[in-house]
Amino acid sequence: MPSSAELHQRRAAAVARGVSSMIPSYVGSAGGGTMTDVDGREWIDFAAGIAVTNVGNAAPKVVAAVQAQVERFTHTCFMIAPYEQYVAVCEQLAELTPGSFDKRSALFNSGAEAVENAVKIARHATGRQAVVVFDHAYHGRTNLTMALTAKVMPYKQGFGPFAGEIYRVPMSYPFRDGRSGADAAAYAIGQIEKHVGASNVAAVLIEPVQGEGGFVVPAPGFLPALAEWSRAAGAMFVADEIQTGFCRTGTWFACEDEGVEPDLITTAKGIAGGLPLAAVTGRAEIMDAVHPGGLGGTYGGNPIACAAALATIETLREIDGAAAARHIEAVARPRLEALAGKHPVIGDIRGRGAMLALELVEPGGTTPEPAATAAVAKAAHDLGLLLLTCGTYGNVLRLLPPLIIADDELDRGLSLLEQAFAAAL
Ligand SMILES: *Cc1c(COP(=O)(O)O)cnc(C)c1O
Repeated sequence: MPSSAELHQRRAAAVARGVSSMIPSYVGSAGGGTMTDVDGREWIDFAAGIAVTNVGNAAPKVVAAVQAQVERFTHTCFMIAPYEQYVAVCEQLAELTPGSFDKRSALFNSGAEAVENAVKIARHATGRQAVVVFDHAYHGRTNLTMALTAKVMPYKQGFGPFAGEIYRVPMSYPFRDGRSGADAAAYAIGQIEKHVGASNVAAVLIEPVQGEGGFVVPAPGFLPALAEWSRAAGAMFVADEIQTGFCRTGTWFACEDEGVEPDLITTAKGIAGGLPLAAVTGRAEIMDAVHPGGLGGTYGGNPIACAAALATIETLREIDGAAAARHIEAVARPRLEALAGKHPVIGDIRGRGAMLALELVEPGGTTPEPAATAAVAKAAHDLGLLLLTCGTYGNVLRLLPPLIIADDELDRGLSLLEQAFAAAL
């Protein structure tokens, strides 16, 4: 196997610079809570490929399901010749997503594609155009989803013009706005009513716990108030659960925490154990408002990805993925609190389940410390810990281990994080 250094040289001559990587090491194999690079070095995985491999890399059931499916058939296009695996994934989504009402789903390839389609469906069903999104939101990198995404650098810089009829309002961000959920919702709703007009809103689109924007958990009451306002306004309440879904936050979907039942929900990342698959699931009458042929795509709901999703869901049921996420929080949170006691640069510890974050600021205040954040992340990488950063201000460290991480691996990863703080600051 070529070394990471050799691969890096080849990459520089062949791969576009705009596609960057967090670490300079190349993957040899991965499984459980670890990754081994081509140079034979083992890493603790606190990234799960950005909350994708919730059941771990090369999870046994997923591997078996993919192998069996790839030998039967690889692709027919569901729009030409349909197959059971697609239907079965939609059945599972209807059962697992919040709300006991009649649901339908459509399958796609990526999270951004699911979000685009949720917007198409909401506009078609309501006959309206405006889409309300929030500060710090991340919804993808395609043209429409760039417009929905908040952060300019690196996601939007130089890539305009962007799609129209997108309106951004303030997010509940307890560490920074100090508002209750009800106050923050009243403020956001006031902005919508003043600047957009309730009768023009097709969709209110929100991540129930924000991902790339900084793992921002809105204050209790914020999401229910927005869902209730949307219902009264005749707008679709759309939950983007692409990062939070499939047990990540300690429930199957993050909306369950406050009993919110979205009209439409987008899923991807954790759905298929690492294979590309995404979905829009929603109330039957909304989903079915679209004429036959109005939704689809060549690869959407590819049979191999669907087989992987069914095996992933079965695995999450078997291991009780939601309980596993809560266990990770129970182990990690006290360690993070102790770490914050030693390092006053840690201004906030937040998140739920296996989606936890540290926000780094000037001690005692809220001024972001992106340089310290980058230094800790770099030290973690040097020590062999896959650790991601996020946040509008680039000052949030996030923990996203696979839900099947072993206790000793989790313990090692947390120790490496502690060592990284000690080394960097
Ligand atoms: C990752 C992500 C997306 C985009 O998904 P892709 O598969 O990368 O297109 C959209 N929304 C949220 C909340 C995400 O975390």
